[in-house]
Amino acid sequence: LSEDLPVPEIHDEIADLTVSFNQMSSKLEEAFAMQKRFSQSAAHELRTPLTVLRTKVDVFKKKKEHTSEEYDNLLSVITTHTNRLSELVKDLLDLTNMDDLDYDEQIELNALLQDVVEELIPLTKEKNITINVNGTSKSIAGNKSLLHRAFYNLVENAIKYNTENGTVDICIGDSADHAVVTIADTGIGIPKELEELIFEPFFRVDKSRSRQIGGAGLGLSTVKTIIEKHNGVVSVSENETAGSRFTIQL
Ligand code: ADP
Repeated sequence: LSEDLPVPEIHDEIADLTVSFNQMSSKLEEAFAMQKRFSQSAAHELRTPLTVLRTKVDVFKKKKEHTSEEYDNLLSVITTHTNRLSELVKDLLDLTNMDDLDYDEQIELNALLQDVVEELIPLTKEKNITINVNGTSKSIAGNKSLLHRAFYNLVENAIKYNTENGTVDICIGDSADHAVVTIADTGIGIPKELEELIFEPFFRVDKSRSRQIGGAGLGLSTVKTIIEKHNGVVSVSENETAGSRFTIQL
């Protein structure tokens, strides 16, 4: 697969076919490499909480008698890491279960975004974040539950990676043939050279910090897959003042 076929000298149909085969072969190779990277990262992410659980239980088993604090501590470690495992499995399933859905539902974007914001109000309380929703009322066709998930992930990130007393501005705009939603935050921002990479599965800008905040780095790759399923585009840029601005064209 990795070696290209020699392209025959004469420019005829065989030569054209050979070029097409070589192009297909390199596309396939790229897809296999991507699949391999994805499986390796998924295995790594699943192994980390499993290792912590096994080590904790092994240490616990070695001691004959335990205090109630030791029991409580073990239970809390088990709860935290099993929750993390089940979130990860859910995120992995979400990424693969997008076919055979109805993409023709009528969705009112303003109402959808209001619902997302409503659900995330408890999270805003932790850092006293203000969310503003502005813009035109815009109806589009698509899958409601997938778009809800995509916007939820984006607004959740805009809160999670924001600073104390920060703001999230959501704007729904309208152009001739598509809707444009921007989600701008006043948070920590994303380094320019990493703007493309953050949509890759499992990518986190700061692995240790993001792990504390939570999430395996699948949120934005899920967003990208959902938006592309709707023939849309998602991109990120720097916000004028500080933080990040995500733009979704649908
Ligand atoms: P995670 O589960 O880590 O939040 P995501 O795929 O949603 O994964 O995001 C990938 C990474 O992109 C995050 O770990 C974070 O470093 C960065 N990121 C995403 N959204 C924002 C944002 N609004 N502001 C700053 N950094 C962000």
